[in-house]
Amino acid sequence: MTRQVGRNESCWCGSGKKYKRCHWNRENQSPIPVWSAADAFKAAHSQCLCLAPQNLASACSGKIVKAHTVPRSGSLKRIAKDGHVYGWSFSDLNKRANHQGIPQPTRIGLNIASTFMGFCDAHDNAIFKPVENEKFVFSPEQCFLLGYRALAYEKYMKDAQANSINIIRDVDKGWSLNHQISHQNGVALYTHGVTAGQRDIDEDKSFYDNVLTSEDYSSMRSYIVKFEKTPTIMCSGRLAPIYDFTGALLQDGCDPNVKLRHLSLNSFASGDGGAVVFTWLEDSDNVCVPFARSLHATDHAILADTLTRLMFENLQNIYWSPTWWDNLPDESKAALIKRFADATDLTKPIDPQALAPDGRSYNDWGNAEIQALGFELQ
Ligand SMILES: [Zn+2]
Ligand SMILES: [Zn+2]
Repeated sequence: MTRQVGRNESCWCGSGKKYKRCHWNRENQSPIPVWSAADAFKAAHSQCLCLAPQNLASACSGKIVKAHTVPRSGSLKRIAKDGHVYGWSFSDLNKRANHQGIPQPTRIGLNIASTFMGFCDAHDNAIFKPVENEKFVFSPEQCFLLGYRALAYEKYMKDAQANSINIIRDVDKGWSLNHQISHQNGVALYTHGVTAGQRDIDEDKSFYDNVLTSEDYSSMRSYIVKFEKTPTIMCSGRLAPIYDFTGALLQDGCDPNVKLRHLSLNSFASGDGGAVVFTWLEDSDNVCVPFARSLHATDHAILADTLTRLMFENLQNIYWSPTWWDNLPDESKAALIKRFADATDLTKPIDPQALAPDGRSYNDWGNAEIQALGFELQ
């Protein structure tokens, strides 16, 4: 069928280019070296820009800074070993290819871990001062800012993904026609997800920008778990809960016309221990309140395990303690890696029971103290 496309018609792959400039004769073209695709991918994820709202009182100034998303610079340091933590190095295509597509935890330096180039120096300081330089008292403003930065980070990454699509589209040069077709089907699925994700996050960003500039936190919700010990996993990201912790459906993850409701998830060191904080806005109550209540109904004695599963299942921007990881049984490591691998595989349907206990003990972060802001726990 593909051979019947006219050379001047749009290519069958959906790139929008003419067939003669896209997939015509692609099986005989030189393959793109993996390192070259990886470099282009990395460049797309290293753009400098400031995501502060336009209507802030102060204008951008200073250069774009490498800002940490994991709140409080001391957090990563506390779990590091020899200046490094473990994390997912998403741009390391070579390494993943060498392990049959299975992601491999990578040692990442503290200066790089969790950073992105999404705010100018002035705005990074001004906006995030209450979470970086002031004592963390779990105020609505501080909890909101955790959510705001996780959202800014995700917007930055979504835009980078969109900018990378043309790179991914072209890696089938020199492949057989059948392989090209299956690759392009995958690209189409990915593009669809990225476009819908961009649309949702742009809308959320405008809501969050309003809260930031008005300083009215009445629509902000938080579910806070304070732990006696420092969590061995530090994260900052957003997730759209599809099922709750019992497997009950919360929202339709398949209909591209329905906006997915998100919440942010952050963990960090605080005092002698640490905390895990979920944040969302009122417009997502219908999904996020039942999700938080379902988490609240789980066994509090094993909350650290439940949260470990949730983090590995949903977040890419997560960093963990080498000391903890290196002492974990191999089967437990494999189970957590599999959660991340399955979540990043768009062709795999989501398992409704994914967040249910898996019989493994991963972490002990000591006693948990829970607090809710802006909503009732039951
Ligand atoms: Zn094409
Ligand atoms: Zn700025």
